[in-house]
Amino acid sequence: MPFTLITNGRVLDTETSTAPAADILINQGRIETVAPPGIAAPPGATVIDAAERLIIPGLINSHTHGHGSLYKGGGDRWTLELLLNAGPWLAGERTLEHKYLAASLAAAEMLSKGCTAVYDLYVEIPAPTLEGMRAVAQAYHDAGIRAVVAPMIADRTFFQAIPDLVEALPQTLREHVQKIKMTPAASTFDICRRLLENWTFDRRRITPALGPTIPLHCSDDFLTTAHNLALEYDVGLHMHLAESKIQALSGIRHYGKSLTAHLDSLGFLGTHFTAAHAIWLDHDDITRLADHGASVAHNPGSNMRLGSGIAPVREMLNAGLNVGIGTDGAHCADNQNMFEAMRPTTGSARALGMGDQIGKVAPGFEADLVLLDLNHFNWLPMNDPVNQLIHTEDATAVHTVIVGGDVVVRDGQLLSIDVAKLKSDTQEAIAFLDERNRETRALAEQLERHVGKFCSGLARSPHHVHAMAESNLPR
Ligand SMILES: [Zn+2]
Repeated sequence: MPFTLITNGRVLDTETSTAPAADILINQGRIETVAPPGIAAPPGATVIDAAERLIIPGLINSHTHGHGSLYKGGGDRWTLELLLNAGPWLAGERTLEHKYLAASLAAAEMLSKGCTAVYDLYVEIPAPTLEGMRAVAQAYHDAGIRAVVAPMIADRTFFQAIPDLVEALPQTLREHVQKIKMTPAASTFDICRRLLENWTFDRRRITPALGPTIPLHCSDDFLTTAHNLALEYDVGLHMHLAESKIQALSGIRHYGKSLTAHLDSLGFLGTHFTAAHAIWLDHDDITRLADHGASVAHNPGSNMRLGSGIAPVREMLNAGLNVGIGTDGAHCADNQNMFEAMRPTTGSARALGMGDQIGKVAPGFEADLVLLDLNHFNWLPMNDPVNQLIHTEDATAVHTVIVGGDVVVRDGQLLSIDVAKLKSDTQEAIAFLDERNRETRALAEQLERHVGKFCSGLARSPHHVHAMAESNLPR
């Protein structure tokens, strides 16, 4: 049935912070008309009664890691570097079913909390596989969420990425980490190329992209190859950029310039580029990103949880840089609640490469809508809808969620996923993975003290602070 009519609702107007009564006519998954109440339902149309509901655009999560959902709360008092140190056990030993499951769980949480589109950097250990990435895309397709799915790729390990870190480890641990090897770049890119070339999903709903994970984790050749491949297939590039002070300092040390300046010198920046976090930027970096029409995915929850720093978002916006909001992975920010992370912004839509398709309740846009229950305490009374959406709403008033015209959550219940099975599968998966990753986890726990000590020393060393001042970093 191509038509859906939503009647009796109130549609948020962000410009005036009002919520006038309006009907919405959806045709083939797109919004056709938003008009004062009284639109006649076309013959055969599905009619959704939205009395006592506030209708907002579905929230858009511009940065997460679907694989992280299985280990929410898995670490505590971790810096970014300690999280990366734990990476091998957090995502290790997963079967195809686990990869699908983790993405399903992430999608279930996001949809239940009013998020209708996501940019996911999904990691497979040791390297992306065609089947794995297809399983992730399939999970998002089956859940009914809109998604951009990017395999996380690199050709250097965390230990190779930070100058002198390996040398600072005790001998036995050093030998262990030196045994960790990345898959050769040629085979990683062979998989990526085949993935992009044979993408079977409807790109309007599930789109591929590439996620070269962190500048220092990728050689220049690797970055250039990723960039060229993204251009060739017209897909997005998404990367963690200057997320921690350690990364910013190591970048200056390794490249003799900031990470952003280095990416710029490789021709890496452009409208298809999304930089996650982007905390340790100087004015020049912000200007470079803005001038190239790039986007930033701002993850305030993760930045706080990992103690990475406060991103200069005000300066970014002043410079005209597009900023979207994200949750980051559940293993580093503990939940996937966009109401905690964000205000509904069209910035996230652009960061997903979907700026003219999602993020607005307006004709021509995809019908990605969230109906909030105005009987809920969050809205009693409704004084200023925009203000309350940002500061009061916490996803508990989410009543109905619609993606591309399809109702995926009704009355707060997820319709697209068998939640009881999701729960039992998750319990089983964790029992299996905890056991299988026991040794890898024990090694990471042994390394933790040394990595932590090295990194906090690095962040304070006079030589580096001097280098940082010269490069005009704001902090
Ligand atoms: Zn991330």
